[in-house]
Amino acid sequence: MKDDLDLASDPRWRRLWDRPWSCVSCGEAHQGLFDLAFGKPEQWPGAEDKAPNSALDLDLSGNFLSEDFCVLEGQHFFVRAVLELPIRGSGGQQFGFGVWATLSRKNFERYIAEFDSGEQDELGPWFGWFCNRLKGYPDTLNLKCQVHPVSGRQRPRVLLEPTDHPLAIEQQSGITFDRLLELYAIYGHDMRMSLCD
Ligand SMILES: [Zn+2]
Repeated sequence: MKDDLDLASDPRWRRLWDRPWSCVSCGEAHQGLFDLAFGKPEQWPGAEDKAPNSALDLDLSGNFLSEDFCVLEGQHFFVRAVLELPIRGSGGQQFGFGVWATLSRKNFERYIAEFDSGEQDELGPWFGWFCNRLKGYPDTLNLKCQVHPVSGRQRPRVLLEPTDHPLAIEQQSGITFDRLLELYAIYGHDMRMSLCD
C-alpha cells in the first residue's frame, strides 16, 4: 500500500501517543490506540455473564459464553477474534475491532484442543461468518470471512471476503486518522477536541 500521507507530521497523532488524555465522552484516560470490543456474538440472546474458558463442556451441548468461546444450543460455535484495519500513514499500525466469528464444529473443536498450546498458526485459515453489527457501517452481520488462528496467545485475526462492503474495503485499503477518530467517537470516545489540547 502506497501511503501518500505521513502521520508523523500530524500533531494530533503525536499527541495520541505522547501522554494520556482524559476522554470527554467516557471519562477514562486513554493513551495510544485501543481496541473496540464486543463481549458476545450478536446471536447470543442473554447478558454478557461470562464463564471461564476452562468451564467449556467438551461435549459442546447447550449454551456457553466465555471471553473466547461461545456455543449456542449445542449447534452454533463462535470464537472471539480481532478484525484489524490498517491506519494509513502510520507506518504499519493497525486499529482493532474485537469481534466474533462462527466456526464449523470440527474447526471449533480443533481450535479448543490447541487453545492452551499457544501454537495455533498451523491451524486454519477457516471459513466463518462475521457475527457482530458494527456501528458506522451498513449491516456487517453475516459477512463472509476467514478466521486465521495465530500463535503466541493472541486472538485469531478475521479477514473479510474482499467485497465492496465498506468494512471490507477499509480492511483492504486502510483508514485515515480522521476516520479512526470518527469511529472512536461513534463508539463513545470522542477525542477530537482532547487531542488539540
Ligand atoms: Zn473514552
